Amino acid sequence: MRVRIHRGARQIGGTVVELEHDGRRLLLDCGLPLDGDPDDPGVMPAVDGLAVADDGLLGVVLSHGHRDHWGLLPRARAALPIFMGEATERIFTAAAPFVPGTLTTKASGHLVDGQPLEVGPFAVTPHLVCHSAFDAYELTVDAGGRRLFYSGDIRGHGRKAQLFERLIAQPPSNVDAMLMEGSSIGRLDAASRFPSEGDIESQLFDAIAATEGMALVAASAQNIDRVVSIFRATRRAGRTLVVDLYAAEILHATNRATIPQTSWPDVALFTPQHQRVKIKAEGLFPLLDRHKANRAFPEALAAEPSRFVVLFRGTMLADLVRAGCLSGARAIWPQWDGYLKDERGASLQAALAAASVPLDVIHTSGHASIFDLQRLAAAIRPRALVPIHTFEAGRFPSLFDNVVVRADGEWWEV
Ligand SMILES: [Zn+2]
Ligand SMILES: [Zn+2]
Repeated sequence: MRVRIHRGARQIGGTVVELEHDGRRLLLDCGLPLDGDPDDPGVMPAVDGLAVADDGLLGVVLSHGHRDHWGLLPRARAALPIFMGEATERIFTAAAPFVPGTLTTKASGHLVDGQPLEVGPFAVTPHLVCHSAFDAYELTVDAGGRRLFYSGDIRGHGRKAQLFERLIAQPPSNVDAMLMEGSSIGRLDAASRFPSEGDIESQLFDAIAATEGMALVAASAQNIDRVVSIFRATRRAGRTLVVDLYAAEILHATNRATIPQTSWPDVALFTPQHQRVKIKAEGLFPLLDRHKANRAFPEALAAEPSRFVVLFRGTMLADLVRAGCLSGARAIWPQWDGYLKDERGASLQAALAAASVPLDVIHTSGHASIFDLQRLAAAIRPRALVPIHTFEAGRFPSLFDNVVVRADGEWWEV
């Protein structure tokens, strides 16, 4: 089996890995770089069969639903087979009416934890992992008697930390090459750990309890671990979690009885003006029907803002200002603070400041600490450990054994 990392050997995001055996090829992920423009022709990797039909390319296996791993697939040829988790596909479908550019291709097959998927000469065995995306997998690929392990994006301190411990306790054996992400290298020193999701829940509770008015928590609805932390903190504070129709649909798409839903008594649906316009224009009434059990109308939010925690997006701010909900309010940013520095983050900060709403960051990483990456590498003991999804490949040899740094675009044997 041969491997070529098209993108990821030197950067976080935009991951594309091509595998080849006996003239048949398979892609692992096909992501848009974090700062990439999907319309830029130069951003598409040079993979035969991605844009134009070529029998050699069998398909793409998607590790998880983050755009830096699938963002170029809407530009791939429509008939290219894509394999992904079933919940990932449901979340794409739920997001599509609300998020432009979402992948809408139907999966050719689903990844199931521990179940090998045969794609031509490749046997791909996915295992569920802990990450800030729901339904995320590591992928172990066997072909031609060789074995490749691809970590995908992974962490050991989220709500599914037991999946990380399971992987350490029962690692795949005889791994010839391991592609391991290293997002935290350069962001965290080797001795430090990230707070757990449980720690984040406690910090959120403290912040909500100390907020006189409405709490606005600007989390991504697709970071299900975080939404659960927010919900638990909200409930502990005796408040109701308010979600918009997009978030309601994403939570519904998880199809998990343990994940907050609008049918729960302490969750309510709020439809900001732009969503009401959209519902009418695009006939989304069946979605609204599904979530109408507990509606939070502007008058109710304004009457007692201290009863509510809003799963907040910037597009809601004008509605909340207009309704007079924000006296004593506080906003919380439970995302990477780097996003606050980009254009959208900066304009959100300015808009909150104009509304006199203070903003605090409460966050933990979606990626493993160096300590946990070292535990993972030591458990798998690959013959070669190849850095991916990192800006710091050059630091791998000082942190892990058997490191072989590969360049983007280089073919190599597993
Ligand atoms: Zn990623
Ligand atoms: Zn990710």
